[in-house]
Amino acid sequence: MNNKYLMERSLKTVWHPCTQMKQHEVLPLVPIARGEGAWLYGFQGERYLDAIGSWWVNLFGHTNPRINAAIREQLDKLEHVMLAGFTHEPVIELSERLGNLVSGKLGHCFYGSDGASAIEIALKMSFHYWHNSGHPEKNDFVSLQNGYHGETLGTLSVTDVALFRDTYAPLLRHSAHVLTPDWRYAAAGESAEDYTQRAAAALEAHLAQHHAETAALIVEPLVQGAAGMGMYHPDYLKLARQICDKYRVHLIADEIAVGFGRTGTMFACEQAHITPDFLCLAKGLSGGYLPLSVVMTTDSIYQAFYHDETTHGFLHSHTHAGNALACRAALATLDIFEHDDIINTNRVKANYLNHAVQPIASHPTVKNFRNCGMIWAFEVETNDPAFAGRFFQAALAQELVLRPLGNTVYFMPPYIINEQEMDLLAAGTLRALDSC
Ligand SMILES: *Cc1c(COP(=O)(O)O)cnc(C)c1O
Repeated sequence: MNNKYLMERSLKTVWHPCTQMKQHEVLPLVPIARGEGAWLYGFQGERYLDAIGSWWVNLFGHTNPRINAAIREQLDKLEHVMLAGFTHEPVIELSERLGNLVSGKLGHCFYGSDGASAIEIALKMSFHYWHNSGHPEKNDFVSLQNGYHGETLGTLSVTDVALFRDTYAPLLRHSAHVLTPDWRYAAAGESAEDYTQRAAAALEAHLAQHHAETAALIVEPLVQGAAGMGMYHPDYLKLARQICDKYRVHLIADEIAVGFGRTGTMFACEQAHITPDFLCLAKGLSGGYLPLSVVMTTDSIYQAFYHDETTHGFLHSHTHAGNALACRAALATLDIFEHDDIINTNRVKANYLNHAVQPIASHPTVKNFRNCGMIWAFEVETNDPAFAGRFFQAALAQELVLRPLGNTVYFMPPYIINEQEMDLLAAGTLRALDSC
């Protein structure tokens, strides 16, 4: 297959996400023929290490034999049945196992197809809970500065990333954004602890004034992904939980990017020893194979909807909710976590990569080198507004898929990455930095 032929056909008919299509006059599309393990392969023998897990979804490599086998087996039994009025084994087993993973406190699973739909579900469910409980005036949300929760109209309202939000602002609902706990925003000389306290105080000041009309606080626990991998201390989550309890406001944990081991624990909230009222999961949930998302919530929230009246029930549906193939992929993914003791083996891998990347951390143009679990990020000092595109190209030339967010370069490798591949990642990134 000829690369140029595929690029031309693709550009004629495929409108690519988050892309100024005109940029493809100079930035070639990358046709991919197949994937295997941590690698993506082109049609002419090119190969690229997928160091960002295909937009943060891929946990155990491409065409993973165990996930493939599970999907194949399911394919011959049941590919899909609607979840309204029907049920099936994969969705039951997945709900049970997810419930056990989060200590049994979030035992009710509501399914969607992608991350944004999970956030829409959590927002609507929180509002509807208050409505059913005699507080329909609680219909506002508060989120964090630099937060990202998706790009549908509802989720953009609680998102604070100018690139995604500004153009569509007239379509959005007003929503408050409070000071981010991301330590890069600490004042000069301010300790991380003091900054965490200051961010929590800003949240408290907001809720002290607005709790009566606020349904929920929504956060990305520990790592604010899309705004540039901003990292913060688990103490903030602990304080946020206390503040939400004090003011009777729900806490929605958007673990779409950070769930499933990304921050070093199965779920990021574990590091703060808290349970949110709603836990949103997607991306890695199916090992990155199929679109699947879930919102997990508590029994007390579930009970507020359990009633003789139809309109007391949660009135929301996505056609492909709980798709059997996607649930089966998710079950195979959970099997791998268990059988291969992934959380612990990832710790060893993270140590290895932390050593290998030392020359990057001390590179003269690199700032704020940081790591949380299986996420690494750093800023590159540059005045070039086209840096991200140029670095992407420079990384491809080193057989690496790296797609900076502005001037933030990050790694989110699949967990099957081995030492040799981590060495390639570190050395190739250094060469890309030098050539760019
Ligand atoms: C990716 C992401 C979403 C949106 O998920 P989609 O599947 O792209 O709709 C929401 N929140 C966070 C934190 C994400 O990283």
